[in-house]
Amino acid sequence: MQNNAIDEALVNELRALLPEGGVLAGEAISEDYGHDETLGLTPQPPAVVLRPASSAEVSKILALAQAHRVPVTPRGSGTGLSGAAVPSPGGILLSTERMKRILEIDTENHVAVVEPGVTLGELDAATAPHGLVYPIQPGESTASLGGNVATNAGGMRAVKYGVTRHQVLGLQAVLPGGEVIECGGKFVKSSSGYDLTQLIVGSEGTLAVVTRIIVKLVPRLAHRSTLLAPFASVEAITRAVPRLVTSGLSPLFVEYMDALSTAGMFRRQQIDLGIPEAISSQAQAYLLVVLEGASDTRLQEDVERMGVLCSECGALDVFLLPSSQGSKVIEAREAGFWAAKDSGSNDQVDVVVPRAGLSEYMAEIQRIAADSGSLIVGTGHAGDGNVHLQVYQGDEAVRSDVMDRIFDVGARMGGVVSAEHGIGLVKKKYFQAREAPAKLALLRRIKLAFDPHGIMNPGKVFDPAASNGPSA
Ligand SMILES: Cc1cc2nc3c(=O)[nH]c(=O)nc-3n(C[C@H](O)[C@H](O)[C@H](O)COP(=O)(O)OP(=O)(O)OC[C@H]3O[C@@H](n4cnc5c(N)ncnc54)[C@H](O)[C@@H]3O)c2cc1C
Repeated sequence: MQNNAIDEALVNELRALLPEGGVLAGEAISEDYGHDETLGLTPQPPAVVLRPASSAEVSKILALAQAHRVPVTPRGSGTGLSGAAVPSPGGILLSTERMKRILEIDTENHVAVVEPGVTLGELDAATAPHGLVYPIQPGESTASLGGNVATNAGGMRAVKYGVTRHQVLGLQAVLPGGEVIECGGKFVKSSSGYDLTQLIVGSEGTLAVVTRIIVKLVPRLAHRSTLLAPFASVEAITRAVPRLVTSGLSPLFVEYMDALSTAGMFRRQQIDLGIPEAISSQAQAYLLVVLEGASDTRLQEDVERMGVLCSECGALDVFLLPSSQGSKVIEAREAGFWAAKDSGSNDQVDVVVPRAGLSEYMAEIQRIAADSGSLIVGTGHAGDGNVHLQVYQGDEAVRSDVMDRIFDVGARMGGVVSAEHGIGLVKKKYFQAREAPAKLALLRRIKLAFDPHGIMNPGKVFDPAASNGPSA
């Protein structure tokens, strides 16, 4: 399917459609619009940036883009880690930065209705006065809700609250021809035809532009405690994870941090917990466990039980962090990506495997690191079987082989290529190589049904016309 580059006449037509500041072209396009936060990505500046303020404006843009066969890449905050928001050459970047209204905090139905450009931080601030919270908080609070929906974002709290798709009840979306559809609503039950809400969640801007989102809210629990447990081996720590998660204590986080990554994150955030040398010198990795509760007494009991469980699982010690230190450690963990980037990580992997298989997975990773001469370290959502690996290997060919081997191990263990960052551009070849031809062909037919002219974020997730399926 052939797309066209946008021309001057179409840019002028778009200027007539959108209010002042709605169209950025030439020098007005900042370099930020050409990339997301993916490591090692080559930026691609868009031909034009469009900043609609309503679904009606999105609809007009898409109708025109389809008529002229010009590719459109939606963009939220550009914090993605798979290259999915990188514009197509000669294409339109549709930024949702002006669609920032929180339309409703419905305290009776416990839902929020938001426009896609609202950030996680903004929604958090708006829900707090109501004693409610949107529980999905991936590590970057400037990320937009639209981006979260499109990537099916996860994060540290997924072990308790699931991922974005578990909290999205309904959507308004604009199809490539400009038609506006509504799916789902302020309810958890629907057996009314195919579930388009869930099809659009995780579609990385390849099917439609999300213009309104209905998400569940939960009570904001007032009490929280943070435990840090060092372990002498990666095996001991990964074996502990299923026991902690299934303990009945419903931890909010069960995060894995290997010793090298922890040292880097703590240095960057200037954290010194005063862990005795006798312990820190033995620690190969740490578990960061956070518990929350409505009552302090009940929380203290749960913390006590979690501490005992960590010790039974072989922790060298268990540190209950004072609340200010706990917050700092959580911040450091959230900023783990920046610490890895600062230290020269060449690539990042977010494979997920069944959490009971983490121990075997991590052992295989260490074998791959050793025999390829690479450094592979990790932090991440161990409670979900999703440790983010940072791969330090400067030789591109060796690194590509290392990545292939990691994805093979993940697949062999019943996992998938990406748990939460998405496939985008950079994981596409690994994803396509591991999917059955019949499934890829079905994905292409779904894409074709939504987007018959292939204008929506083309070339992301999979190649439209790969040889192992009907071309789209
Ligand atoms: C420090 C750091 C920590 C992070 N931690 C986590 C984490 O713990 N868990 C996690 O899951 N991710 C994490 N991320 C990745 C990132 O924050 C998420 O992928 C987030 O969902 C991206 O949101 P965004 O608004 O930046 O989207 P963008 O990067 O702008 O876009 C991402 C994708 O969404 C599409 N898109 C955006 N808006 C729309 C829309 N309205 N309609 C249709 N498609 C749209 C884009 O086309 C693209 O395909 C982290 C990133 C950083 C930098």
